[in-house]
Amino acid sequence: MSKIHNFSAGPCILPQEVFQEASEAVLNFNNSCLSILEMSHRSAAFVDVMEEARSLVKEVLNVPSGYEVLFLQGGASTGFLIAAYNYLSLSGVGKYVNTGAWSGKALKEAKRLGGMEVIASSEDQNFSYIPDYENPSDGDYLHLTSNNTIFGTQFQEIKGANIPLICDMSSDIFSKEVNVGQYDLIYAGAQKNLGPAGATVYIVKTDSLGKSGRDIPAMLDLNVHISKDSMFNTPPVFSIYVSMLTLRWMKKNGGMNWIADRNQRKSDLLYNEVERNPLFKGTARKQDRSKMNPTFVLNDESHTEAFNKLWNDANISGIKGHRSVGGYRASMYNAMDVDSVQVLVDCMKELENKA
Ligand SMILES: *Cc1c(COP(=O)(O)O)cnc(C)c1O
Repeated sequence: MSKIHNFSAGPCILPQEVFQEASEAVLNFNNSCLSILEMSHRSAAFVDVMEEARSLVKEVLNVPSGYEVLFLQGGASTGFLIAAYNYLSLSGVGKYVNTGAWSGKALKEAKRLGGMEVIASSEDQNFSYIPDYENPSDGDYLHLTSNNTIFGTQFQEIKGANIPLICDMSSDIFSKEVNVGQYDLIYAGAQKNLGPAGATVYIVKTDSLGKSGRDIPAMLDLNVHISKDSMFNTPPVFSIYVSMLTLRWMKKNGGMNWIADRNQRKSDLLYNEVERNPLFKGTARKQDRSKMNPTFVLNDESHTEAFNKLWNDANISGIKGHRSVGGYRASMYNAMDVDSVQVLVDCMKELENKA
């Protein structure tokens, strides 16, 4: 099989060794002669997987005490609702910074339950920048989206808040160190940087729960899931198993320092070319650019066909931009090698030489 350089925005690439090990577990998990897909989630073998995954999240992200880690179903889109149900009081207000399509969907769920206020937005310029915001002094919580997968922007630094802080980190969790202690709730769909679709990671400060005064449906109640060790209902076993393998891979290679350094090198390589090459320009404001999902366009669309042929011939896939931005989006999640980014940069240089 020739190598495909997969720049897909999600589901994402994973380390080759994780694919290999996961495929073996589908046939014969830990020499049990059972597939991981047919085992009881209550079996000792799977409970070990769940506990290792939960504890590796704590270890790799340096999660302080007082937090619990859950792997739930429903995607980050259910996280929007879980955030509101668990933190929005009956007559309270959830405060949102609107930085793109995903934060827009998150705030809609809070609106559905009652009180929602957008305290800053970059909608006026098609979400091409991260807006400044005043840290709110009142409100039930502040909700941020750390990386905007579609628009290619990312908070470079998130400051603590005076009210509970909730963050959707779906597309940049595990891409660098995070000061978990400043958050009350972090959630992230696994499929962007951790594993296959199906599991969503929640990192929750336990004493921040139970204050919304709502009658929370059991599947949305974080306290219910905590009390059942993340097994209130059948967990997405395969997604959790593969996420656990990816966490082992991160830890073995040097954890968040190693990952952050690698991601920095990849984004420097690509953004330097976007800036240097007169045929291209980035779509996000420079100081807000995402290290995970760089977005860029051709200055002259007449080069589109030639460029598409170049990257297609180089076995690159998944770099077509989202329809709301156009152009190109080269998602460079953790498992992507610097070499793959170099292949893309070489295509950009070759286009310039031919033009
Ligand atoms: C992909 C994505 C989501 C949606 O995740 P699902 O798991 O598909 O519900 C939410 N937020 C961000 C930032 C995303 O990138």
